[in-house]
Amino acid sequence: MHYQPQRDLLQNRTILVTGASDGIGREAALTYARYGARVILLGRSADKLRDVAQQIERESGVAPQWFTLDLLTCTPQECQQLAQKIAIHAPHLDGVLHNAGLLGDVVPMDRQDPDVWQQVMQVNVNGTFMLTQALLPLLLKAESGSLVFTTSSVGRQGRANWGAYSVSKFATEGMMQVLAEEYQGRLRVNCINPGGTRTGMRASAFPTEDPLKLKTPAEIMPLYLWLMGDDSRRKTGGTYDAQPGRKPGISQ
Ligand code: NDP
Repeated sequence: MHYQPQRDLLQNRTILVTGASDGIGREAALTYARYGARVILLGRSADKLRDVAQQIERESGVAPQWFTLDLLTCTPQECQQLAQKIAIHAPHLDGVLHNAGLLGDVVPMDRQDPDVWQQVMQVNVNGTFMLTQALLPLLLKAESGSLVFTTSSVGRQGRANWGAYSVSKFATEGMMQVLAEEYQGRLRVNCINPGGTRTGMRASAFPTEDPLKLKTPAEIMPLYLWLMGDDSRRKTGGTYDAQPGRKPGISQ
Protein backbone atom coordinates (compact mmCIF):
# COMPACT_ATOMS: atom_id res chain seq x y z
CA MET A 1 0.00 0.00 0.00
CA HIS A 2 1.44 3.37 -1.03
CA TYR A 3 0.24 5.60 1.77
CA GLN A 4 2.16 8.54 3.17
CA PRO A 5 0.68 9.32 6.58
CA GLN A 6 1.11 12.73 8.20
CA ARG A 7 3.58 12.58 11.09
CA ASP A 8 0.85 13.77 13.47
CA LEU A 9 -1.78 11.37 12.07
CA LEU A 10 -2.63 9.94 15.49
CA GLN A 11 -1.90 12.93 17.73
CA ASN A 12 -4.18 12.92 20.79
CA ARG A 13 -5.67 9.55 19.83
CA THR A 14 -5.86 6.65 22.25
CA ILE A 15 -5.39 3.28 20.60
CA LEU A 16 -5.50 -0.15 22.22
CA VAL A 17 -3.57 -3.03 20.63
CA THR A 18 -4.03 -6.70 21.56
CA GLY A 19 -1.12 -9.09 21.13
CA ALA A 20 1.13 -6.05 21.53
CA SER A 21 3.94 -8.17 23.00
CA ASP A 22 5.29 -9.61 19.77
CA GLY A 23 5.20 -9.76 15.98
CA ILE A 24 2.82 -7.49 14.10
CA GLY A 25 1.05 -6.21 17.24
CA ARG A 26 4.30 -5.08 18.81
CA GLU A 27 5.23 -3.21 15.65
CA ALA A 28 1.75 -1.67 15.40
CA ALA A 29 1.97 -0.38 18.98
CA LEU A 30 5.42 1.15 18.36
CA THR A 31 4.24 2.64 15.06
CA TYR A 32 1.05 4.15 16.47
CA ALA A 33 3.09 5.73 19.28
CA ARG A 34 5.56 7.17 16.73
CA TYR A 35 2.63 8.82 14.94
CA GLY A 36 1.51 10.50 18.14
CA ALA A 37 -0.97 8.05 19.69
CA ARG A 38 -1.28 7.21 23.37
CA VAL A 39 -1.18 3.46 23.14
CA ILE A 40 -2.59 0.88 25.52
CA LEU A 41 -0.87 -2.49 25.26
CA LEU A 42 -2.63 -5.80 25.90
CA GLY A 43 -1.04 -9.24 25.99
CA ARG A 44 -0.60 -12.30 28.15
CA SER A 45 3.05 -11.83 29.15
CA ALA A 46 3.86 -9.04 31.60
CA ASP A 47 7.60 -9.27 30.85
CA LYS A 48 7.15 -8.89 27.11
CA LEU A 49 4.64 -6.05 27.48
CA ARG A 50 6.96 -4.22 29.89
CA ASP A 51 9.69 -4.46 27.28
CA VAL A 52 7.52 -2.91 24.57
CA ALA A 53 6.32 -0.21 26.98
CA GLN A 54 9.92 0.66 27.86
CA GLN A 55 10.86 0.97 24.19
CA ILE A 56 7.91 3.30 23.59
CA GLU A 57 8.91 5.36 26.62
CA ARG A 58 12.52 5.60 25.38
CA GLU A 59 11.32 6.77 21.96
CA SER A 60 8.52 9.13 22.93
CA GLY A 61 9.19 10.04 26.54
CA VAL A 62 5.72 8.80 27.47
CA ALA A 63 5.20 5.49 29.23
CA PRO A 64 2.18 3.68 27.80
CA GLN A 65 -0.26 1.77 29.93
CA TRP A 66 -0.22 -1.99 29.61
CA PHE A 67 -2.45 -4.73 30.94
CA THR A 68 -2.26 -8.50 30.87
CA LEU A 69 -5.29 -10.38 29.62
CA ASP A 70 -5.13 -14.01 28.54
CA LEU A 71 -7.67 -14.44 25.77
CA LEU A 72 -7.60 -18.19 26.29
CA THR A 73 -9.03 -18.01 29.80
CA CYS A 74 -10.65 -14.57 30.04
CA THR A 75 -14.27 -14.24 31.16
CA PRO A 76 -16.78 -11.53 30.26
CA GLN A 77 -16.40 -10.20 33.84
CA GLU A 78 -12.63 -9.94 33.49
CA CYS A 79 -13.03 -8.07 30.20
CA GLN A 80 -15.52 -5.66 31.82
CA GLN A 81 -13.15 -5.08 34.74
CA LEU A 82 -10.34 -4.35 32.32
CA ALA A 83 -12.53 -1.85 30.46
CA GLN A 84 -13.28 -0.13 33.77
CA LYS A 85 -9.56 0.11 34.59
CA ILE A 86 -8.85 1.56 31.14
CA ALA A 87 -11.68 4.09 31.54
CA ILE A 88 -10.03 5.56 34.64
CA HIS A 89 -7.26 7.02 32.47
CA ALA A 90 -8.83 7.00 29.00
CA PRO A 91 -12.34 8.46 28.78
CA HIS A 92 -12.65 7.07 25.26
CA LEU A 93 -10.81 4.84 22.79
CA ASP A 94 -10.22 6.16 19.26
CA GLY A 95 -9.06 2.79 18.03
CA VAL A 96 -8.83 -0.88 18.93
CA LEU A 97 -6.63 -3.24 16.94
CA HIS A 98 -7.58 -6.86 17.57
CA ASN A 99 -4.31 -8.44 16.55
CA ALA A 100 -3.69 -11.26 19.07
CA GLY A 101 -4.09 -14.66 17.49
CA LEU A 102 -3.31 -18.34 17.82
CA LEU A 103 -2.35 -20.59 14.91
CA GLY A 104 -3.12 -24.05 16.31
CA ASP A 105 -2.20 -27.13 14.31
CA VAL A 106 -1.64 -26.96 10.56
CA VAL A 107 -2.87 -30.50 9.78
CA PRO A 108 -5.84 -32.04 7.92
CA MET A 109 -9.27 -31.89 9.53
CA ASP A 110 -9.24 -35.55 10.59
CA ARG A 111 -6.11 -34.88 12.65
CA GLN A 112 -7.14 -31.54 14.22
CA ASP A 113 -6.86 -32.03 17.99
CA PRO A 114 -10.26 -31.00 19.46
CA ASP A 115 -8.55 -29.35 22.46
CA VAL A 116 -6.32 -27.24 20.24
CA TRP A 117 -9.34 -26.46 18.04
CA GLN A 118 -11.16 -25.09 21.12
CA GLN A 119 -8.13 -23.01 22.11
CA VAL A 120 -7.88 -21.41 18.68
CA MET A 121 -11.61 -20.58 18.71
CA GLN A 122 -11.34 -19.28 22.26
CA VAL A 123 -8.48 -16.88 21.54
CA ASN A 124 -9.33 -15.82 17.98
CA VAL A 125 -13.12 -15.65 18.27
CA ASN A 126 -14.67 -15.96 21.75
CA GLY A 127 -12.12 -13.97 23.77
CA THR A 128 -11.94 -11.35 21.04
CA PHE A 129 -15.74 -11.08 21.07
CA MET A 130 -15.89 -10.68 24.88
CA LEU A 131 -13.23 -8.00 24.81
CA THR A 132 -15.04 -6.21 21.97
CA GLN A 133 -18.28 -6.19 23.97
CA ALA A 134 -16.48 -4.67 26.95
CA LEU A 135 -14.64 -2.01 24.91
CA LEU A 136 -17.53 -0.91 22.66
CA PRO A 137 -18.83 1.78 25.06
CA LEU A 138 -15.38 3.40 25.14
CA LEU A 139 -15.08 3.23 21.35
CA LEU A 140 -18.52 4.79 20.90
CA LYS A 141 -17.47 7.76 23.04
CA ALA A 142 -14.79 8.67 20.48
CA GLU A 143 -15.61 11.21 17.79
CA SER A 144 -14.63 8.79 15.03
CA GLY A 145 -13.72 5.39 16.44
CA SER A 146 -12.03 2.63 14.46
CA LEU A 147 -12.34 -1.04 15.33
CA VAL A 148 -9.97 -3.27 13.39
CA PHE A 149 -9.88 -7.07 13.36
CA THR A 150 -7.11 -9.24 11.96
CA THR A 151 -8.03 -11.79 9.36
CA SER A 152 -6.07 -14.00 6.98
CA SER A 153 -6.34 -15.12 3.36
CA VAL A 154 -7.53 -18.50 4.72
CA GLY A 155 -10.40 -16.64 6.40
CA ARG A 156 -11.82 -15.86 2.96
CA GLN A 157 -10.96 -19.04 1.07
CA GLY A 158 -10.66 -22.30 2.98
CA ARG A 159 -7.43 -24.15 2.28
CA ALA A 160 -6.38 -27.69 3.16
CA ASN A 161 -4.67 -28.12 6.56
CA TRP A 162 -5.53 -24.66 7.94
CA GLY A 163 -8.32 -26.18 10.07
CA ALA A 164 -9.31 -24.24 13.18
CA TYR A 165 -7.26 -21.18 12.23
CA SER A 166 -9.05 -20.85 8.89
CA VAL A 167 -12.49 -21.36 10.45
CA SER A 168 -11.69 -18.84 13.20
CA LYS A 169 -10.70 -16.22 10.63
CA PHE A 170 -13.96 -16.77 8.67
CA ALA A 171 -15.69 -16.07 12.01
CA THR A 172 -13.56 -12.95 12.45
CA GLU A 173 -14.69 -11.63 9.07
CA GLY A 174 -18.29 -12.38 10.07
CA MET A 175 -17.93 -10.59 13.40
CA MET A 176 -16.54 -7.56 11.58
CA GLN A 177 -19.43 -7.51 9.08
CA VAL A 178 -22.13 -7.82 11.75
CA LEU A 179 -20.60 -5.04 13.85
CA ALA A 180 -20.06 -2.79 10.82
CA GLU A 181 -23.76 -2.96 10.00
CA GLU A 182 -24.89 -2.54 13.61
CA TYR A 183 -22.77 0.56 14.19
CA GLN A 184 -23.04 2.17 10.73
CA GLY A 185 -22.44 5.92 11.10
CA ARG A 186 -21.20 5.59 14.71
CA LEU A 187 -18.09 3.43 14.49
CA ARG A 188 -16.08 2.06 11.59
CA VAL A 189 -15.27 -1.64 11.68
CA ASN A 190 -12.86 -3.30 9.26
CA CYS A 191 -10.47 -6.23 8.85
CA ILE A 192 -6.80 -6.30 7.93
CA ASN A 193 -5.20 -9.29 6.26
CA PRO A 194 -1.47 -8.79 6.90
CA GLY A 195 -0.40 -11.38 4.31
CA GLY A 196 2.69 -13.55 4.94
CA THR A 197 4.81 -11.54 7.39
CA ARG A 198 8.10 -12.30 9.17
CA THR A 199 6.92 -13.32 12.66
CA GLY A 200 7.02 -16.29 15.00
CA MET A 201 3.56 -17.40 13.92
CA ARG A 202 4.53 -17.43 10.24
CA ALA A 203 7.69 -19.40 11.07
CA SER A 204 5.68 -22.08 12.87
CA ALA A 205 3.25 -22.35 9.95
CA PHE A 206 6.08 -22.56 7.36
CA PRO A 207 9.16 -23.85 9.22
CA THR A 208 11.25 -24.42 6.07
CA GLU A 209 10.57 -21.03 4.52
CA ASP A 210 13.31 -18.41 4.21
CA PRO A 211 12.01 -15.60 6.46
CA LEU A 212 14.13 -13.05 4.62
CA LYS A 213 11.80 -13.42 1.64
CA LEU A 214 8.90 -12.11 3.72
CA LYS A 215 7.92 -8.54 4.50
CA THR A 216 8.70 -7.42 8.03
CA PRO A 217 5.93 -6.15 10.31
CA ALA A 218 7.34 -2.63 9.86
CA GLU A 219 6.84 -2.85 6.08
CA ILE A 220 3.10 -3.53 6.36
CA MET A 221 2.36 -0.67 8.76
CA PRO A 222 0.95 1.82 6.19
CA LEU A 223 -2.41 0.00 6.14
CA TYR A 224 -2.43 -0.23 9.94
CA LEU A 225 -1.94 3.54 10.10
CA TRP A 226 -4.48 4.31 7.40
CA LEU A 227 -7.24 2.37 9.15
CA MET A 228 -6.63 4.18 12.46
CA GLY A 229 -6.34 7.70 11.08
CA ASP A 230 -8.82 10.14 9.58
CA ASP A 231 -8.01 9.14 5.99
CA SER A 232 -10.22 6.04 6.38
CA ARG A 233 -13.01 7.84 8.23
CA ARG A 234 -15.80 6.81 5.88
CA LYS A 235 -14.69 3.21 5.37
CA THR A 236 -16.55 0.48 7.19
CA GLY A 237 -17.35 -3.20 6.64
CA GLY A 238 -14.27 -3.76 4.50
CA THR A 239 -11.45 -6.27 4.53
CA TYR A 240 -8.10 -4.94 3.38
CA ASP A 241 -4.87 -6.63 2.30
CA ALA A 242 -1.66 -5.15 3.68
CA GLN A 243 0.13 -6.85 0.78
CA PRO A 244 -2.29 -6.67 -2.15
CA GLY A 245 -1.53 -9.03 -5.00
CA ARG A 246 0.44 -11.43 -2.82
CA LYS A 247 -0.41 -15.11 -3.44
CA PRO A 248 -2.13 -16.44 -0.30
CA GLY A 249 -1.11 -19.37 1.88
CA ILE A 250 2.01 -20.28 -0.06
CA SER A 251 5.53 -20.76 1.27
CA GLN A 252 8.09 -18.39 -0.25
P1 NDP B 1 2.77 -13.74 16.71
O1 NDP B 1 2.62 -15.17 17.12
O2 NDP B 1 4.10 -13.18 16.43
O3 NDP B 1 2.06 -12.79 17.79
C1 NDP B 1 0.79 -13.13 18.28
C2 NDP B 1 0.42 -12.22 19.40
O4 NDP B 1 -0.80 -12.69 19.97
C3 NDP B 1 1.48 -12.21 20.51
O5 NDP B 1 1.53 -10.95 21.08
C4 NDP B 1 0.89 -13.23 21.49
O6 NDP B 1 1.33 -13.09 22.82
C5 NDP B 1 -0.59 -12.88 21.37
N1 NDP B 1 -1.40 -13.96 21.91
C6 NDP B 1 -1.40 -15.26 21.56
N2 NDP B 1 -2.21 -15.96 22.36
C7 NDP B 1 -2.74 -15.08 23.26
C8 NDP B 1 -3.62 -15.20 24.35
N3 NDP B 1 -4.10 -16.38 24.74
N4 NDP B 1 -3.95 -14.10 25.03
C9 NDP B 1 -3.44 -12.90 24.70
N5 NDP B 1 -2.58 -12.72 23.68
C10 NDP B 1 -2.23 -13.81 22.98
O7 NDP B 1 1.80 -13.59 15.44
P2 NDP B 1 1.73 -12.50 14.27
O8 NDP B 1 2.28 -11.21 14.73
O9 NDP B 1 2.24 -13.14 13.07
O10 NDP B 1 0.15 -12.40 14.09
C11 NDP B 1 -0.62 -11.28 14.44
C12 NDP B 1 -1.98 -11.44 13.80
O11 NDP B 1 -1.86 -11.46 12.39
C13 NDP B 1 -2.70 -12.74 14.18
O12 NDP B 1 -4.07 -12.48 14.36
C14 NDP B 1 -2.47 -13.63 12.98
O13 NDP B 1 -3.48 -14.59 12.86
C15 NDP B 1 -2.51 -12.60 11.85
N6 NDP B 1 -1.84 -13.01 10.62
C16 NDP B 1 -0.48 -13.14 10.58
C17 NDP B 1 0.16 -13.49 9.41
C18 NDP B 1 1.64 -13.65 9.31
O14 NDP B 1 2.13 -14.06 8.24
N7 NDP B 1 2.42 -13.35 10.33
C19 NDP B 1 -0.62 -13.70 8.17
C20 NDP B 1 -2.04 -13.54 8.32
C21 NDP B 1 -2.61 -13.19 9.51
P3 NDP B 1 2.75 -13.74 23.31
O15 NDP B 1 3.79 -12.72 22.93
O16 NDP B 1 2.57 -13.87 24.77
O17 NDP B 1 2.91 -15.04 22.60
